[in-house]
Amino acid sequence: MSEERFIQYETDGAIATVVLDRPDARNAQHPPFLEQFDEALHRAVDDKEVRVIVVRANGPHWSAGHDISPESAKLFKDVIDPSTGIHSHYGWEQIHYLEKTKSWRDLPKPTIAAVHGKCIAGGLMLCWPMDLIVASEDALFSDPVLRMGVGGVEYFAHPWELGARKAKEFLFTGEFLDAQEAYRLGMVNHVVPREKLEEKAYEVAGKIARMDPFGLRMAKQSVNRTLDQMGQWNAMQAVFDMHHLAHAQSRLLSEDGSSIQGQTVGSMKAAS
Ligand code: ZN
Repeated sequence: MSEERFIQYETDGAIATVVLDRPDARNAQHPPFLEQFDEALHRAVDDKEVRVIVVRANGPHWSAGHDISPESAKLFKDVIDPSTGIHSHYGWEQIHYLEKTKSWRDLPKPTIAAVHGKCIAGGLMLCWPMDLIVASEDALFSDPVLRMGVGGVEYFAHPWELGARKAKEFLFTGEFLDAQEAYRLGMVNHVVPREKLEEKAYEVAGKIARMDPFGLRMAKQSVNRTLDQMGQWNAMQAVFDMHHLAHAQSRLLSEDGSSIQGQTVGSMKAAS
């Protein structure tokens, strides 16, 4: 992997900031991007001075989702071997798109996503696992992957984040949900003008940073364990298997029946 940076990391006292920094590609996620994102979060966890983690994005949008460009397809080709049928694809996504994302939800320190611009498909998997979401008025959320034959991104938090009925509309139409509607549904904590986004995120982070770290950890775990007792994680794992049933269907219907390139990969990655 290259030494190129796609994620920036900085700290200011008790607050660490992880910055999505691939603006030219609208923060599209490829394996090194995700690896650096994961490393930055763990760097914050390991830093004893850090009490709260803010995630924000450089460029006009939060994230375009998983990178489906031809250059990125080469990186995926290194990790997904179509000759294994669905095996290596399933295994790679299980670790990198499902379990890693869940692990971000469970980081032992509070996390806040400050989201602006478009947040599409895999982009949701960078903000939904965070504890709080502050959105700017221009934020737009969508998961349009049904057009590519899959039922939703790998981290299937949709019914939990939006409620069952709205989740269905969100998935069935693939249309954007705006920040105000996301706020009304409880998916985001605050909506502020674009120029106030960072100010608001750091204001909330500052309040949290003054609280007892162990108490915060217990509160976070209490909510997350409640979600798990309600079946969230079991449901996500079950839905992930269906996601791969859909990938297999795309593969079967693809021109040569085995390729993970081209449109079929597009489906997989964008889905993701
Ligand atoms: Zn997938």
